[in-house]
Amino acid sequence: MSGNGRVSGGHSPVVAIDGPAGSGKSTVSRALAARLGVERLDTGAMYRAVAWAALRAGLDPAAGEPVADLARSLAIDVGERVTADGEDVTEAIRSPEVSRAVSAVAATAEVRTELVDRQRRWVAERGGGVVEGRDIGSVVLPHADLKVYLTASPEERARRRHEEGAAALARRDAIDSTRAASPLEVADGARVVDTTGRTVDEVVEEVLGWL
Ligand code: C5P
Repeated sequence: MSGNGRVSGGHSPVVAIDGPAGSGKSTVSRALAARLGVERLDTGAMYRAVAWAALRAGLDPAAGEPVADLARSLAIDVGERVTADGEDVTEAIRSPEVSRAVSAVAATAEVRTELVDRQRRWVAERGGGVVEGRDIGSVVLPHADLKVYLTASPEERARRRHEEGAAALARRDAIDSTRAASPLEVADGARVVDTTGRTVDEVVEEVLGWL
């Protein structure tokens, strides 16, 4: 690596970060992207945006095809702010209602097909980046330069996501891990990091050492 943290050779690295809610994905991927001087994509925010739009449209989040139709037509922009059809939904997509609905939306295979396609295009347009989610190393970017799977103890994860509540978090994890379409799993070749009791800097340094 050169001094600014970029991998030498001119191309930006593609880094996949997966793990359950509260494992530290967002904090670690944000810090890692800053250190590498690349952009970061929060794919969970994309599923949340679709769930938010489904609720707004009065759709059952588990309805299947109507939700997939909506996903295909929804303009989603995920950066520091998140917009859906031009509306700023950065805070709205973190509401308890959206958190309760999102796993059913994400279990819909046709919704995944649409969002996975957009996620791959995001990386192709930038030539790299840090992408975080549940299926990034296993499905979206199986040829990533580095795949990391973050975990933390259930107690620590519930503490980090206290606003959601331990029961709601456990329910979301259960749906995400057992669904037929791209369940949360450790991807082939992924490095597993337990972030329990560790600082962000420690984890980021360890991850950078693998690039
Ligand atoms: O990352 P976050 O907790 O915000 O993700 C919200 C939900 O989006 C997850 O519980 C999961 O159902 C879904 N998701 C997914 N695949 C991804 C990212 C998120 O299924 N790559």
